[in-house]
Amino acid sequence: MSFAKLGLNEAILKAVAEKGYQTPSPIQAKCIPVVLEDRDLLASAQTGTGKTAGFTLPILEKLSRVKVPKGKRVIRSLILTPTRELAAQVGESVRTYGEHLKLRSTVVFGGVNINPQKAHLRGGVDVLIATPGRLLDLHEQMVVDLSGVEIFVLDEADRMLDMGFIHDIKRVIKLLPKQRQSLLFSATYNDDMKELAKGVLKDPVNVEVAPRNTAAERVKQELYKVEKSLKTDLLKHLIKTNAWHHVLVFVRTKHGADRLCKKLDRAKISTMAIHGNKTQASRTKALQLFKENKINVLVATDIAARGLDIKELPHVVNFELPNVPEDYVHRIGRTGRAGSEGHAVSLVDTEEVKFLKRIQALLGKRLDLVKTPKFDRTPPAPRGDARYHQKLAHAAKKEQEAPKAKGKGRGKGRPQAKQKNPLKG
Ligand code: AMP
Repeated sequence: MSFAKLGLNEAILKAVAEKGYQTPSPIQAKCIPVVLEDRDLLASAQTGTGKTAGFTLPILEKLSRVKVPKGKRVIRSLILTPTRELAAQVGESVRTYGEHLKLRSTVVFGGVNINPQKAHLRGGVDVLIATPGRLLDLHEQMVVDLSGVEIFVLDEADRMLDMGFIHDIKRVIKLLPKQRQSLLFSATYNDDMKELAKGVLKDPVNVEVAPRNTAAERVKQELYKVEKSLKTDLLKHLIKTNAWHHVLVFVRTKHGADRLCKKLDRAKISTMAIHGNKTQASRTKALQLFKENKINVLVATDIAARGLDIKELPHVVNFELPNVPEDYVHRIGRTGRAGSEGHAVSLVDTEEVKFLKRIQALLGKRLDLVKTPKFDRTPPAPRGDARYHQKLAHAAKKEQEAPKAKGKGRGKGRPQAKQKNPLKG
């Protein structure tokens, strides 16, 4: 299979060759003909499969077949993405693949000044890549007219639903012409997604490349069982002893991201954080520095990291497991992209075992347990180490005393004493 056989024109083939792609990925080989045949598409594909080119290339092909009429351009293709970063990335792909075409595109998302976006839109574009909220703002301000859209794409639709965009999506759909082609991409497919697909697509062709809900198989997935209080030390240890230079670390909360970022920085591991409380400028800067290998670690929350494409990312660390098992699949999909080997490590404390079980059930397999005596949840007693045994006995005694102390009024209202690792402190 070659790109030339898929019916793409010379200008697009040239851009694809310049990008260094030799053969279409499976999702591209399946999606491109469907889109060129004007059919609606429901594609189940993880990130890293090349899905962006899977819809971008045929859209550019179709739009470039019609000569751009004189006068102001109308928006003929709308691509909706859940996050700003993904919008920027898709926008970059549209620009790259369309480099030798006379089409115009622009990207709009929230968190940045709206005026330059308005100016671009007023100049007329053929392809608009947008996040839902900002798109609706611009529509209310009468700078966006979607009545000429021929091809509509919902990218990472599952994440849009997770992020609560359903009402915004419905509002956007009402602004589109009924007669249009629609493409929906989602890594997971549950009942909500089926419902959404029913409202958006007409007689779609189903395309599935990786078996639904399974993690990228080429990613080596490892598990460390470790106390919460030792996670930062273990992470520093892994980064330093293995000389990891490029690591994406996932945490569950924005504050957790900032805290970890500071601790790693203090350990002389250059780190930045990316999450929803950061300004768009700082999110963009962190991502850029990380992509250019100018910082070693990027600490991210799920929402901010969704869909990020970072070339040859060697390691992903789940500093905390996600409570939604599908998010685990998305997270580890950041490594081992487009054929390269990947490595994902999960640091799991006792409270997270329930999440681990759900993840393993979704994957249909267990993660490989790695033993690190120094950090293991129940470290084996070094033989003859009196200090160890003393500490162990002390920790056990304290634990026994904790409920009694609570009953007497001491430490009232405080959470019950946490189980400590006797080797620490
Ligand atoms: P995506 O799943 O669209 O985010 O793409 C994942 C990565 O694969 C991106 O870095 C693309 O540049 C790359 N890619 C997409 N298509 C191909 C291809 N046919 N050959 C090699 N790399 C590709």
